[in-house]
Amino acid sequence: MKIQSVLGPVDTSELGQVLMHEHLTCADWSMRMNFGSRFYEADKVTEMSCGMLGKAAQQGVATVVDGTPVNLGRDIHLMRDVARRTGLNIIASTGFYYQEEPWLGFRDEEQIYDLLMGDCTDGIQGTDSKPGILKAGVARAGVTPLLHKVLHATGRVAAETGLPIFCHHDPSVHSGGEILDLFESCGVPANRVILGHSGDTTELEYLTAMLERGCWLGMDRFGFCDRDLGLEPRVDTIARLCEMGWGNKLLLSHDLAAYLAFWDSWETTKNSDYLHLEEDFTFIHRRVLPALRERGLEPAVVDGLLTANPRTFFEGTSSH
Ligand SMILES: [Zn+2]
Repeated sequence: MKIQSVLGPVDTSELGQVLMHEHLTCADWSMRMNFGSRFYEADKVTEMSCGMLGKAAQQGVATVVDGTPVNLGRDIHLMRDVARRTGLNIIASTGFYYQEEPWLGFRDEEQIYDLLMGDCTDGIQGTDSKPGILKAGVARAGVTPLLHKVLHATGRVAAETGLPIFCHHDPSVHSGGEILDLFESCGVPANRVILGHSGDTTELEYLTAMLERGCWLGMDRFGFCDRDLGLEPRVDTIARLCEMGWGNKLLLSHDLAAYLAFWDSWETTKNSDYLHLEEDFTFIHRRVLPALRERGLEPAVVDGLLTANPRTFFEGTSSH
């Protein structure tokens, strides 16, 4: 079946190895427009993105899902340029991150639904690029009234378009059940939903309870091993879930951005040796897959994490 990449429909049989949750950039548009090159330089970010994602392509990656929501600075022109220059399939998202902001807080659900539906039917930002996935986010505070409204609008768009949903969530507060309930109330079954950042916990009881509901787990923060939960506990948790028979419901990624404007200034980033970072878009190939093989997992299960699983997720064919 066909899904939307930023350069047009692509057959799911041609997705190859997929990184299910990355970002080319997360950099706020109002900051970009106001501060110009002090905050962001588009040409340079394009060059960085091509260099970094080109390295992943050399490792065998064929498809990258850009999980940037509209209000973290999703840049469809950047995605289109990088897709053309690297030959990668890039899948764009539409949806909103969890921050409380007036243009979400004061609007009713219908208006939010209309905006998201417009991206899906008309294309993004005046281009013919359409999203291949919806994005939602729930932070530590859980499903606040604003997020209930935004997630409900997002769920309705998913039910109507058939697009799947990636939902950022914080597994430490166990909000997955509430998120799945909300989407189900919109007509979105759990097998169309990824609970993102599930790899940030080692609590097997919670993770298996979510898997039993039928959703997918994003073990997708391998770009952050240095910052919080390290590589070994993350890999051990994946290995344990695979041994329990859940290997076909896990999706791997780094959640990195070529330029992430949250923490690092543009000045620091543009002068960094970004092509030789330890935790880059090739970290899974260099460090995670070998570590999983060392733990004795079947090669087919390990290979499926980047190929069969994303394909099955997009096709929506898994029953459990
Ligand atoms: Zn992300």
